[in-house]
Amino acid sequence: MTAGPPGLDPAGLAARLAAAGVPVERGVPVADLTTYRVGGPLAVLARVESPAQLAALAGALADGVPPLLVVGRGSNLLVAEAGFPGLGLVLGPGFETLDVSSGPDVVRAGAAVPLPVLARRSAGAGRGGLEFFVGIPGSVGGAVRMNAGGHGRETADVLIDAEVVDLAAGEAAAPTRRPAADLALGYRRSAVGPTEVVTGATFRTAPATVAECEAIVADVVRWRREHQPGGSNAGSVFANPPGDSAGRIIDSLGLKGLRVGGAVVSAKHANFFQAEAGATADDVHALVAEVRRRVLDATGIALVPELRMVGFDDDGPGGGDR
Ligand SMILES: Cc1cc2nc3c(=O)[nH]c(=O)nc-3n(C[C@H](O)[C@H](O)[C@H](O)COP(=O)(O)OP(=O)(O)OC[C@H]3O[C@@H](n4cnc5c(N)ncnc54)[C@H](O)[C@@H]3O)c2cc1C
Repeated sequence: MTAGPPGLDPAGLAARLAAAGVPVERGVPVADLTTYRVGGPLAVLARVESPAQLAALAGALADGVPPLLVVGRGSNLLVAEAGFPGLGLVLGPGFETLDVSSGPDVVRAGAAVPLPVLARRSAGAGRGGLEFFVGIPGSVGGAVRMNAGGHGRETADVLIDAEVVDLAAGEAAAPTRRPAADLALGYRRSAVGPTEVVTGATFRTAPATVAECEAIVADVVRWRREHQPGGSNAGSVFANPPGDSAGRIIDSLGLKGLRVGGAVVSAKHANFFQAEAGATADDVHALVAEVRRRVLDATGIALVPELRMVGFDDDGPGGGDR
């Protein structure tokens, strides 16, 4: 039996969702859904295949939305070994549409489209400006939620609007188009709320030749290979403090190679923490706490995780609202 919080009845929730026609599973290890490849079970997991199934899910939650964890590509998520005692939600094929030719200088993508696919397909159609996404292994929904960015650009620079469904609306839940200006996109954060699901996004592009776009894509890929490690990680653990780089600070304290259990600070990039074979989510979490403590003691700088940590006592900024 998967444990749940007081008031959550996983078996009852799963039965209610199944009766509404939503594909549902219990006890799926989050390790199977995240790039860290660690973490415990989701009490209930809905794999929603289409907008109609998402509406059915919302209708089945008309009495209240349980603690919700939308999982995109899982490339910025660390879930405790104890698991997530609520409802996990993964968007399936009906959210993977990608239209690079719907209008001049506009690309529309479903929330489940992987960012590297968005970048490469847009580049191949001569739609410039989205090339930076090729180095970020998340989804369109995750990029909106996190305002993902790199190489001098971020989602806020290219997002026209996002389509959002608020599950708290129950049977009345319907996609609404939220202009980027309404999403309060800031450094690795947004106003996407704890019961809201991003289902798609419209991006602004700039005219360019295919060759120009593909050259930028190749540059981004080359830079990533040279500067970032492979293996199991979730990219940068900490946000950069104003005017500095978290990786530079961690490196300057000689913390590359610091280890807790199977979790280790990467020798290639000090803000990437690797989960080696046999590592647990709790090892990674303890390493995050240890590096943060050492940086605070040595420099007075309180690093803020950009990694979403879920199910720990101190989930950190954004963790509590997932
Ligand atoms: C090797 C590597 C390099 C990386 N480089 C970068 C980088 O350069 N810049 C950067 O910004 N990030 C980077 N990341 C982190 C990560 O890819 C981004 O944060 C990305 O936007 C997360 O998308 P995701 O789909 O994986 O989201 P997840 O990790 O699945 O989820 C992250 C958060 O978004 C929420 N979420 C996901 N999908 C939805 C949705 N459809 N609706 C509502 N909420 C949703 C989740 O609930 C969670 O709170 C890197 C990660 C890795 C592994």
